[in-house]
Amino acid sequence: MMNLKMMEDGFRMILEGMGEDIHREGLIDTPKRVAKMYQELMTGLSGDTKAEDILKTRFHEKYDEMIVVPNIEFASMCEHHFLPFTGCAHVAYIPGDCVVGLSKIPRVVEFYARFPQIQERMTRQIAELIQKVLQPRGVAVVLEASHMCMTMRGVKKPGASMVTTQLLGRFKTDEKTRAEFMSYIKPYIRH
Ligand SMILES: [Zn+2]
Repeated sequence: MMNLKMMEDGFRMILEGMGEDIHREGLIDTPKRVAKMYQELMTGLSGDTKAEDILKTRFHEKYDEMIVVPNIEFASMCEHHFLPFTGCAHVAYIPGDCVVGLSKIPRVVEFYARFPQIQERMTRQIAELIQKVLQPRGVAVVLEASHMCMTMRGVKKPGASMVTTQLLGRFKTDEKTRAEFMSYIKPYIRH
């Protein structure tokens, strides 16, 4: 359960610590708004949804070719700086004995985006969940994202993006499978 009051008080202290006048008109409700915003952005922490449940509805199908879901837009929050990182996920799997509805893969991406995150971990979590629940012959996840903590501060490289990959099963062991996947997602990669 999230403690909105605690988040609100905490953000008020951040503003005060910055030397801001927390009583001026524009800021008076800001701590409350920020608390509500974090509640929305960090729904993963609420524990209301179990990741496994997203893939609960499965269909038994004799389909053993690659299923590719490219270009899934997401926005998450870097846990080191609490600034957003945004981009696209590209996911593929080769089914074992079941498949899931097309909308479920983007929901998995969305689920893991709603935590304080790092891109590397998010990439691995998406792949591991699909592997665990669907037991496919292989899973591939590629995330490409640009990080506000890189573009607004520090090295200040506007537009700089990072690519992370997690390959499991046949995508890891078979070069041809990997090449086929890469050819599908190539048009979407900006890098
Ligand atoms: Zn960061």
